Amino acid sequence: MTVTPEITLIGSGCASLSLAKELARHNVARAKIVTDKSYQDRPDHIWGFWQMPWLDDAVSQATHSWKQWHIITDNMTVSHKSDEHPYCSLHAGKWLGYCADISGAKEVIEEVTDTPPAPYFDSRPVPADEGIFYQHFIGHHIKADRDVFNPDVAILMDFRCDQSQGLHFMYLLPTSANEALVESTLFSEQLLDKTYYETAIKSYLATHYDLSSYEVSHVETGAIPLADCRDKSAPHHAIGARGGALRPSSGYAFSFIQKQVAGILSHHARTGDWQAISPLAPRDLWMDKVFMAVLQARPELSISIFEAIAKSLDGSEFARFMSGNASLATILKMMLSMPKWPFIKAALSPRTYRRGM
Ligand SMILES: Cc1cc2nc3c(=O)[nH]c(=O)nc-3n(C[C@H](O)[C@H](O)[C@H](O)COP(=O)(O)OP(=O)(O)OC[C@H]3O[C@@H](n4cnc5c(N)ncnc54)[C@H](O)[C@@H]3O)c2cc1C
Repeated sequence: MTVTPEITLIGSGCASLSLAKELARHNVARAKIVTDKSYQDRPDHIWGFWQMPWLDDAVSQATHSWKQWHIITDNMTVSHKSDEHPYCSLHAGKWLGYCADISGAKEVIEEVTDTPPAPYFDSRPVPADEGIFYQHFIGHHIKADRDVFNPDVAILMDFRCDQSQGLHFMYLLPTSANEALVESTLFSEQLLDKTYYETAIKSYLATHYDLSSYEVSHVETGAIPLADCRDKSAPHHAIGARGGALRPSSGYAFSFIQKQVAGILSHHARTGDWQAISPLAPRDLWMDKVFMAVLQARPELSISIFEAIAKSLDGSEFARFMSGNASLATILKMMLSMPKWPFIKAALSPRTYRRGM
């Protein structure tokens, strides 16, 4: 009789539970989840991602999807459409519950300070370096007293808001003509007082939707490091953000985590070993480092850079680029749209350029 091995998974966030689900589904191992209590009261939130071939399970659990999305600046609205890769939203609580139900993993509440014997995977966050940018935000799930939104179009970035505290945009996912998640999001070093984001949301809705009367049913908040946060000491055991599944230029992680989980299963099927590999290509990590260096050193260029990227690609190209699946032709097209000198200087020495030296 063969005995199913037990794998310890540290943490009970997206990476651990997504992996536990797949271990059970393929019937290759039983997961034992060891987690502290730090996230037990974390409010529910939305994960956004573009539909990709490795995300069928997540798409089946998504609550909404949009085949059209906009990126808006003072100068223009870039409108993208993709039938192949719609933008989807998924409730974190729903996904984690779905994964926990399938995995049937036993959970041990314990603050891990040492690593367990192999096989194990670790998703504890790694402390971020000093001086990096964060993507920090507050989002309000609102219900308006009248129809003001176009439920067919997601607004991924609308830069028509206060820019005095850093690169600032509004993210608006309409789930009906009078309901939406509206998020005030900044890319900057300093997190702000919550009244800043709340005032920005109010002012945006008043200015662009003539809307002042609405109920807030739920609030979500986050601060995601926009940097390479990999654990370089034990990379083959590291999963999730710790394992390099967080895209440093965007803060997106959900899609990359699912890709990483699929990679762990296929590596095991081929070799019999348990090993995690960063789901982001070295090329993408390098591009992101250069990109973030330019945003930090030349903030005045930031909005025009996002505008240029969006304009240079069609919807499917943009979705594949954001999901780490861009072709070389797409990368070249995008690079040619960028201001040359800042990117050349940043490419030569990203760290020095970021510090303005
Ligand atoms: C509000 C919010 C919205 C987001 N929206 C998106 C989005 O739209 N799209 C997207 O792609 N990404 C999004 N992200 C980013 C992405 O969700 C996260 O980066 C991702 O969830 C990381 O998952 P993870 O499993 O690697 O880590 P986490 O979810 O951070 O899990 C880490 C786990 O480790 C546990 N832990 C920590 N320390 C210890 C310890 N000492 N001992 C034991 N356990 C410990 C914690 O309790 C937790 O369970 C969002 C993040 C937030 C917070």
